[in-house]
Amino acid sequence: MELQPPRGTTDFLPPGSESLLRLYEAAHRVARLFGFRYVETPGFEATELFARSSGESSDVVRKEMYTFKDRGGRLLTLRPEATAPIVRAYLAKRHELPSPFKAYMVGAMWRYGRPQTGRTREFRQFDVETIGAPEPAADVEVIACGDRYFRELGLRGRHLELNSIGDETCRPGYRRLLIDYLEAHQGSLRDEHRDRFRENPLRVLDCKDPACRAVAAGAPKISDHLCEPCREHFDEVQRLLKEEGIEADLVPTLVRGLDYYTRTTFEWVGDRLPEGQGSLGGGGRYDGLAEILGGPPTPGVGFALGIEPRVLLALEKEGVRAGGEALDCFVIGIGEHGREAARPLVRELRSVGLRADAALGDRPLGAQMKMADRANARFALILGEREAAAGTVTVRRLADGHQDVVPQTDVAAWLATHGASE
Ligand code: AMP
Repeated sequence: MELQPPRGTTDFLPPGSESLLRLYEAAHRVARLFGFRYVETPGFEATELFARSSGESSDVVRKEMYTFKDRGGRLLTLRPEATAPIVRAYLAKRHELPSPFKAYMVGAMWRYGRPQTGRTREFRQFDVETIGAPEPAADVEVIACGDRYFRELGLRGRHLELNSIGDETCRPGYRRLLIDYLEAHQGSLRDEHRDRFRENPLRVLDCKDPACRAVAAGAPKISDHLCEPCREHFDEVQRLLKEEGIEADLVPTLVRGLDYYTRTTFEWVGDRLPEGQGSLGGGGRYDGLAEILGGPPTPGVGFALGIEPRVLLALEKEGVRAGGEALDCFVIGIGEHGREAARPLVRELRSVGLRADAALGDRPLGAQMKMADRANARFALILGEREAAAGTVTVRRLADGHQDVVPQTDVAAWLATHGASE
């Protein structure tokens, strides 16, 4: 039996699993701080949902979907992204939901790519979507939510890139200009784009290949060809971002791989992530998506952040410990009276909301100290015969071995004032 998880997936075990949990908790906290409501959609969907929403020419659809037939012969796909499922779920129940509908989700996504550092086949995203709001303020609110997430985590090495890719009024004209330009430079494009750039010329701008990048650098810029309403929208997004104190670099080649995006596009780039896997997350406006899925015209804007592996990796590179201690205290009872006193103490600590644990059976002091260490506790609370007789506890801070003697009745309050359960 193979004990390793399947290629491109990861087992999360302590302490790494606890770092991941912190990233989830921060996502829930920050999204709710901004008024986004928690949603969960199925892990798999009808393949048609992603085929329609991603457009036939997108990489995700062409190469990376986990698609299978179930026993009933239905064609299904493991969700590679969350926006289309969330919009689908919204459209199905829209009459019962608030408008605009502000939703967030935290969960696994699957894409069949070649695994490498920062790129896996199963990864975790934090998704935030505002459905039903055309205003630039909606774009800025989702960006501010992502920015706050990074600030809460203490991730510093990142920057925000911003662009507008216009809408159905101005993009077709720009597309023609771009195709003309690419035709003149066809020979310099990498194979895949040389043959296919007419289908989706904007994808060339997004290509990481140095040859394509050189061509993209000289290409006409969409931002010079926006129609008046798109121009105004983009200007307002920039003004409001400034007001929020969020800096953004304007990057005219920033286009999203999926076809339903309109107007605002943005991406957070991690400064220390590996070349080619530098995106921490990104998003944009997708005013055309709801109609593609058979719903009424409904504007929307959102982002997807790669919590794992990307954000986790970026934090590690900065030496930020995301996990913290797993326990506030490990109670060590030694001798008959110490053990007797340990059980009610653990019960009391847990009842007031402190994370407490203890050995289940009789173990020597050394073994229990080791357990406290392995459990990643902040304090060991030692209850020996001496402490049991005096009604005290020896509180040992595991990080540096510093010890205090505290009356048993005061331990919970003492821990609360000494930084446990932050
Ligand atoms: P996308 O939906 O392609 O814009 O992806 C949004 C974010 O999800 C990216 O910025 C990455 O952080 C993350 N991501 C996408 N694909 C993968 C993958 N195969 N492995 C790890 N993270 C990914």
